[in-house]
Amino acid sequence: METLTNSLSTAQQIMDLEDQYGAHNYHPLPVVLNRGEGVYVWDVEGQRYCDFLSAYSAVNQGHCHPRIVDALIQQAQRLTLTSRAFYNDQLGETEQYLCAYFGYDKALLMNSGVEGGETALKLTRKWGYKVKGIPQNQAQVVFATGNFWGRTLAAISSSTDASSTNDYGPLLPGYQLIPYNDLAALERVLAKDPNIAGFMVEPIQGEAGVVVPDAGYLRGVRALCTAYNVLFIADEVQTGLGRTGRRLACDREGVRPDLLVLGKALSGGVYPVSCVLADDDVMLTIRPGEHGSTYGGNPLACAVTRAALDVLRDENLAENAQQMGELFRQRMTELAQKSALITLVRGQGLLNALVIDDEESGETAWNLCLKLMENGLLAKPTHGNKIRFAPPLIITEAQMEEACAIISQTVLAF
Ligand code: PLP
Repeated sequence: METLTNSLSTAQQIMDLEDQYGAHNYHPLPVVLNRGEGVYVWDVEGQRYCDFLSAYSAVNQGHCHPRIVDALIQQAQRLTLTSRAFYNDQLGETEQYLCAYFGYDKALLMNSGVEGGETALKLTRKWGYKVKGIPQNQAQVVFATGNFWGRTLAAISSSTDASSTNDYGPLLPGYQLIPYNDLAALERVLAKDPNIAGFMVEPIQGEAGVVVPDAGYLRGVRALCTAYNVLFIADEVQTGLGRTGRRLACDREGVRPDLLVLGKALSGGVYPVSCVLADDDVMLTIRPGEHGSTYGGNPLACAVTRAALDVLRDENLAENAQQMGELFRQRMTELAQKSALITLVRGQGLLNALVIDDEESGETAWNLCLKLMENGLLAKPTHGNKIRFAPPLIITEAQMEEACAIISQTVLAF
């Protein structure tokens, strides 16, 4: 009893510490984690949870995957950072690996997902001026409403979410917005403005609440971008790397974007790594000294990236995501028939969401997540009334059944 009281106060003390000394820029669930393995995480009291967020789809390969951690340790003991002022023996091999894995001429490594997006945007503008011939400072990039690609000023400048942009103005110019999943709107804007250099889009909008476009949307985007000589930039930071049941979400429609942005699971959650892939006509528009990052493409990131991608392929994680995703949606559809709380089940692979009957505040979705937590499963609402369910892709059928049972019992008892 005494230990329990002590550890409970420890969890509260840890949360209080963050509250007192950290910026209040997140609203976490009240759980304090200190260990992870595979699909599970443990709190400081030793309570085990199924992790159905996977650090926003960064931990696709499962927590602390031994092959990735081993690559990290081995490389950390040899060389971690050189900067790009010198060559190191890891970067070229990793770039070659990335190009072969995804089928592009060149790769540019950065750190966070938002830097990947920013890099893609800079490449797009450069290409617009150098190749397409857009007059200086006139380049436009089109985005879809509901997009999310991070928190820098460039990223929030395309945002339609007031909580991302409030009091951060002035925002960057050169952006145009069209509705998501609307090919006619894309064609209208492309036909009207010859200064458009690119269209940046998520194959499924993750943060907006796992919004899946109609079948054929990505093929249509590809065709329109080709027809109007505009770069198709796929932000696969969240949807990529097996998450939606394919290597890339774009693979489902057999389309190849001109610029591919990856992050999150590119390191399996052990290190921040992002990259942009493109062919020479785009990538070589940026010349020495025109873009970079001290940590971008460092030896540690490189070793971790190759291991993380090896794991995705060797363990057939996209295929498992496809199968386990079907099982998840089947169980949730059965649940939705028994509970009026769930108004919609949607997603692809293991990127799924339940839409909760709670349009206004999202309070019900939040309270449901608290109950799920009490019952041993971690998930978080996104955009009010949607709860995203995105476990590591290594999840087994037995683990998925266990998790679905927790969700069903929690919803039915709510
Ligand atoms: N792009 C998408 C689609 C994302 O979901 C995110 C983060 O959630 C980002 C970009 C930004 O990644 P990061 O948080 O690593 O900067």
